[in-house]
Parts: sequence; structure tokens; C-alpha cells
Amino acid sequence: NEDPAFWKDHNVQVIIRTRPLSSSEISVQGNNKCVRQDNGQAITWIGNPESRFTFDLVADENVSQEQMFKVAGVPMVENVVAGYNSCMFAYGQTGSGKTHTMLGDIEGGTRRHSVNCGMTPRVFEYLFSRIQKEKEVRKEEKLHFTCRCSFLEIYNEQILDLLDPSSYNLQLREDHKKGIHVENLKEIEVSSARDVIQQLMQGAANRKVAATNMNCASSRSHSVFTCIIESKWVSQGVTHHRFARLNLVDLAGSERQKSSGAEGERLKEATNINKSLSTLGLVIMNLVSVSNGKSVHVPYRDSKLTFLLQDSLGGNSKTIIIANISPSSSCSLETLSTLKFAQRAKLI
Ligand code: ADP
Ligand code: MG
Repeated sequence: NEDPAFWKDHNVQVIIRTRPLSSSEISVQGNNKCVRQDNGQAITWIGNPESRFTFDLVADENVSQEQMFKVAGVPMVENVVAGYNSCMFAYGQTGSGKTHTMLGDIEGGTRRHSVNCGMTPRVFEYLFSRIQKEKEVRKEEKLHFTCRCSFLEIYNEQILDLLDPSSYNLQLREDHKKGIHVENLKEIEVSSARDVIQQLMQGAANRKVAATNMNCASSRSHSVFTCIIESKWVSQGVTHHRFARLNLVDLAGSERQKSSGAEGERLKEATNINKSLSTLGLVIMNLVSVSNGKSVHVPYRDSKLTFLLQDSLGGNSKTIIIANISPSSSCSLETLSTLKFAQRAKLI
């Protein structure tokens, strides 16, 4: 699956990842599960009525972090090295494995050090090794790369810079030169996987402080780690430039917000958080119509998340959605709702 044909004729790949039952789930309910894996591409939701879904890939609980990286991370990096924008989303209810998939255990460093090391560190370790190789192959052209990363969080429709906690409520702008971007967002040059891990850890620490100050749970925020890869080379006396953007997104928990009893700030928060996720759902639904030849309005600008990721959702960008599910029968309804969301995204 490592060749560019991975995306074939559509730009969105949808992968389901099932996490293992936790030990407490096993002790409460035995091995009772709400899904049954049929094969590498099909999964059945065991409910009433029983529903079968097919995807580009269904990864069961035995699929390792390394295998996830090989299937989804490698083609994404190849795409970025070739100069195209790429985006990966982790979708799913709180506790389904989004952060495990996107970050995993980062304290241990890169893949040589920990089996639990997640997608992001592996992606960057591979990216920098690919860049090195590319530079050697294209020595004549004086190929040169610069990578800049940023890390932000969208909480309650406000943008927070995880690499600069003193910033506050950053704004989205669009202009001809920079395209859609976050004004005053800190960008840090990185040249190794270790640099990236350092920023990820800094961001995670800042997020903890912010979450405490704002009295919020990180499960309700979307985090976006972005790397801009700029390349420059000379061919027949002409200097060429290219930009590729790589977005790695850990979405807020997709579970329905319980608004009963919520008042004031809490209610506003629930509504706003639903806004970024529900707009994402709507954007995907309308993109499906567009890909079916209908001319409909795609409401990118209705939420911070979809506005920021506009170029990654439509156009020529390659997108991978990893929909994480829990197999526990106590999560049955949320799992069904995630499978339905993922099914819709597959139609783009
Ligand atoms: P989320 O970010 O969606 O809220 P987490 O990634 O924090 O969920 O996962 C919840 C718990 O389940 C964590 O303790 C995590 O280590 C564990 N977990 C999730 N996915 C897996 C997996 N594929 N294999 C082993 N443990 C997992
Ligand atoms: Mg999480």
C-alpha cells in the first residue's frame, strides 16, 4: 500500500481502527462486543438491525502502531515529498483511541524506542529520512528543504497557540500570499524527528495548563499539528519553489454533548464544539454531492476547523480519516454513529 496508487481516483481514504477492550470493560461485560470484523475491509455492527460497512481498511485491535504508520503514514509522507498537501484526521468518541493513534507514547521517542509510539513521531522520522534521500538523489539541482511546524487547539471556536501559551484567541485570515492562515501563530523550524517531538511535548504541556485555566476537558478541543514543507531547487538555470502542507488533526470527541442541565458558558461551549464537528460533517456531506456532479455550497467558513482546513478537505489535497471505535457493547450507539460518519466520508 505504499505506492501513490493508494489514493487511486479519490482523494479521501477512510480507515476504521478498533481499539482493544480495556481490562475494566472485560471484567464488567466479559468479551461482549458491538462489532464483528469480517475482513480487512468490512466490519459489521451487531445491533438491530445488524449493519455491514466497508472501508478502505478496517484495522482490528491487533493492528500495531507500526502497521498503522505503514498503511497510512507512509503514503502521506510520499505525497508531501512530492509537493502535495496532505491531511490526517482522527475521529471518534472520547476514549476510542484518537490520541493513541495520532501521538501514542511520545515520551519514549521514535519507533526504535517504543512500540506505542504513534503516527506523528513516526511520520516525521520518515519524512526527514525521505528528505535526506531526495537531497542526495537530486544533488545536481541543489534541492533544499525547510520545515516549519505549528501546533494549535480549537476550543469553543477559539484558536489557541499551543507553542505560545501567552497568545489568545488568534484569528483566521485569508490573503493571496499566504492563503488561509492563522494570524500571529508561532512557527518553529524543525529539522529532525527529535525537534518535532520536543514541540509536541511542549504543546502537550501547554495544553494541560490551558485546560486547567479554562476549566475545560481536552476531549472537547480539536488539536491541529501542521508542518509546512518548503522546497527549492534549480533546474536549467531556473529556481523553483514548492510548498506542501501536512496537517495532523486530533478531533474533539464525537459523542453527543449532553446539553441537559448545561447553562450559560457550558451550553455555549457545547453548541460551539458541536459547531466545528457538525460543520465538518456537513462539509463532507456537501463534498459528496459535489463529487456526484451537483453544484452545492460547501460551508467551509461556518466553523474555525473547516475554514482552517478548507484546502485540505477539497481540491487536490490527499486526506486520510482514521475513525476510531470502541468495540465495547457499552459504546454501541456511538460506535454506530462513527461508522455512519466514516461511511459518508468514503463517498467523497
Ligand atoms: P481518545 O483520544 O479518543 O479519547 P485515547 O487515545 O486516549 O482515546 O485512548 C483511550 C485509552 O485506550 C488509552 O488508555 C489508550 O492507551 C488505550 N488505547 C486506545 N487505542 C488503543 C490501541 N489500539 N491499543 C492499545 N490501547 C489503546
Ligand atoms: Mg484524546
